[in-house]
Amino acid sequence: MQLTRLPHPAPTPADTREQLVADPGFGTVFTDHMVVIDYDEALGGWQTPVLGPRQPIPLDPAASVLHYAQEIFEGLKAYRHPDGALGLFRPEANAARFNASAERLAMPALPHELFLGAITALLEVDGNWYPSVEGGSLYLRPFMIATEAFLGVRPAKKYKFIVIASPAGNYFKSGAKAVSIWISDYTRAAPGGTGAAKCGGNYAASLVPTGQAFAKGHDQVLFLDAAEHKWVEELGGMNLFFVFADGTVVTPPLTGTILPGITRNSLITLLEEQGLTVSEAPYSIDQWRDDAASGRLTEVMACGTAAVVTAVGKVAGPDGEFTIGAGGIGQTTARLRETLVGIQTGRIADTHGWVTR
Ligand code: PMP
Repeated sequence: MQLTRLPHPAPTPADTREQLVADPGFGTVFTDHMVVIDYDEALGGWQTPVLGPRQPIPLDPAASVLHYAQEIFEGLKAYRHPDGALGLFRPEANAARFNASAERLAMPALPHELFLGAITALLEVDGNWYPSVEGGSLYLRPFMIATEAFLGVRPAKKYKFIVIASPAGNYFKSGAKAVSIWISDYTRAAPGGTGAAKCGGNYAASLVPTGQAFAKGHDQVLFLDAAEHKWVEELGGMNLFFVFADGTVVTPPLTGTILPGITRNSLITLLEEQGLTVSEAPYSIDQWRDDAASGRLTEVMACGTAAVVTAVGKVAGPDGEFTIGAGGIGQTTARLRETLVGIQTGRIADTHGWVTR
């Protein structure tokens, strides 16, 4: 990929950087650089990528993103492998989902080579921001915004694609414990809406329900379907898997209202390889409560890039709460997490071609 590289006038001193990466938490520490690729319809589309200092971006107050929320993003992690190389987990899948989101938000597609090239260029200069905390990773946030100054409602003709990076520790404050979730009355996405796209607006709309879950002492919010408020969809930032005593597993189907998680897709493959039968089928909240009570349901896993694979221990809603199994981390969840993290960190052979070093 052709790239213009700008000098950094004041990179973070090494000792400050080392302090920042010692225990970075999630999403508050950022590396020194970013890659920006401008899109201008009048100039023929995507321009030459620029790698430069991470800094505020000039934006006209009439930029469409500020008014009509033409914005999409992705999230993926680079992991340090035992030989020191950085490995990305299924970045091609993120590039593909990014373009699916772009299509839904009437934004231009970004060639995969630019998506992957921008990430690689950023890792080459900022790889030394890798966190020193156990279980850490370098989180990458590619995103695109509409920058054209125009107040009519139509797709913009100018965009910015940007990638920033953030050293990350554990997503959940509770670390590797089972999480507790709150069944929201709010709806995340309706049929025909933008639920399958990774657009900022979906997350803005999830803030109030997530805030309610936090206020009641839970770790995440659970969304049910819009039409019947009966079918389990997903959590605020994770997909769900239900593990039954008979060796079968159910995960809600991709009907357009949930995000097609890359972890979800990977777990389907890994579960089947480990001898479980996975079906993508609707599962209702009432069935969930009954199956938890009868013991037919043994484990529930929440999965996503940020939280990897996490056990759901408790579910609460306006009608009371229930526990899954003993409320802790089950065997399947622990084994899946170990397998997935092993592949991501280069400690288990990558037989699927999922890792890009
Ligand atoms: N659902 C939602 C709403 C999310 O934001 C995410 C995180 N991207 C996921 C599911 C999990 O997707 P992935 O496994 O690709 O991170």
